[in-house]
Amino acid sequence: MLCCVAIYISILMDSQKKALLRERILERSAEIGMRIAALEESTKPISPDKGLGRLTRLEAMQDKSVNEAALERLKDEEVRLQNALIKILMPDFGICQGCGNEINFDRLEALPGSTHCTACAG
Ligand SMILES: [Zn+2]
Repeated sequence: MLCCVAIYISILMDSQKKALLRERILERSAEIGMRIAALEESTKPISPDKGLGRLTRLEAMQDKSVNEAALERLKDEEVRLQNALIKILMPDFGICQGCGNEINFDRLEALPGSTHCTACAG
């Protein structure tokens, strides 16, 4: 009897954790979506008739490549978050794909897309 209660509580905790994480993932996705939209705006091709001086044009191109790199990273993260939203429904969510141990909850909270524990990702 006591052990059934313990199992029940652990399942309950687990689903609460998952609900919390799901919320975090959705919040982060929304934030990333906005940042992607803003960066996409700033990585549009620089039109030659923009009337920029030679130096400012060079600066604009440097900014553009910095923004493009940031955009790339955000898109990667967006994909990982989408995968995490799907994976969170699976029983093996939060299990390290490297060693099979549980991934630390703090880590999942900070990086919901994590598929590896701190040790394996190291
Ligand atoms: Zn691991």
